[in-house]
Amino acid sequence: METNGNNNNGTTSSKVMESKKQRSDDPPRIVKFETLDERIQRLLQEAVKARTASYSPYSNFKVGACVECVDGTLYGGCNVENASYPVGICAERCAYVKAISDGRRQMRSVAIVAQQEKHFTTPCGLCRQFMSEFGDAPVFLAKPDLRDVLVTSVSELLPLSFQINEDYSF
Ligand SMILES: [Zn+2]
Repeated sequence: METNGNNNNGTTSSKVMESKKQRSDDPPRIVKFETLDERIQRLLQEAVKARTASYSPYSNFKVGACVECVDGTLYGGCNVENASYPVGICAERCAYVKAISDGRRQMRSVAIVAQQEKHFTTPCGLCRQFMSEFGDAPVFLAKPDLRDVLVTSVSELLPLSFQINEDYSF
């Protein structure tokens, strides 16, 4: 049974990979900061600002995020760690929680700036699922120098995310 399951999963994920292959008319995935819309540049700069508040004494890995809601409001967030490690929260979820607790539910775009200087840092699995609850927004990932920006989206980061689409109320 398990072998069949693995085979099926392998087939499904390779199909998903195929459908996610970049087409020639897709926008470039890694772009220069200065080529981005001013709105997105500001979003990334706000993520850099939010990163300065990072509370990360255990990992020393500082992350900042900023979400733009559909009404244009911006909310910054940073990672907040805890002596009990799993209690901590990632920067992108922190930003989302601030927006949602302020009555916003639809995000227009998301920027995340993390610690690594040579590699793009992508959101953890938990955050991908969390973000998918609130719409498929474009996601802009940058290193601290903001030189290059990796452009992706919530649905691209988490294809086939868990969603409840049927009514289970009594
Ligand atoms: Zn996360």
